[in-house]
Amino acid sequence: MITNSIESLCDSAQAFVKQQLDLCSDRGLKVRLFETYRSPERQLDLFNKGYSKLKRGGMHEYRIAWDIVFVKEGKPSWDKNHKWKALGQTGADLGLDGLCWGGNWTSFTDLPHFQVVPATPNDQSLIRGGYTPPGPFPILKYKDRGYQVKLLQSLLTDINIDGMYGNQTKERVKFHQSISGYLTVDGVARNGLWKYLIRKVK
Ligand SMILES: [Zn+2]
Repeated sequence: MITNSIESLCDSAQAFVKQQLDLCSDRGLKVRLFETYRSPERQLDLFNKGYSKLKRGGMHEYRIAWDIVFVKEGKPSWDKNHKWKALGQTGADLGLDGLCWGGNWTSFTDLPHFQVVPATPNDQSLIRGGYTPPGPFPILKYKDRGYQVKLLQSLLTDINIDGMYGNQTKERVKFHQSISGYLTVDGVARNGLWKYLIRKVK
């Protein structure tokens, strides 16, 4: 049985998926969530049928991975011609960087696949050991105000820390998105930008 409910994922993964589906919709990508939690029985079945390289211990079993596919004529579609790169970019903008997206894997690519930690032996062994990954930072945009905006402004540098997301903040966000080289330049602060700025300050 295929499970595709958001609720079957861990809390932080749920938060990422909700933000990602919104972002896909904003960007005109016709997609749907295809699979979230996967039981060990289904994983073994997929392996036996040759659809998966993993016999057990995949990240879907740990409720931190999900697959998003395109919708064509009302049906899920894996067609290579869909805008998979644009889908991967929504993950990057939400801070699901590098090997969190199966489209960036080198041994084999898994275009619909996202997970909240990179697919490295170290990161994945933390998950298998019971580690719960943190959820995303808040999305902030033009005209927002409050302490979270102040926090963002303190990371942006060369800006008034007044808690108001005005034009100055928006332009500064765009500047950092641009020099990051991988974030979409749209002036909206999402998890990917937060992560980028925090790494820079460190
Ligand atoms: Zn997957």
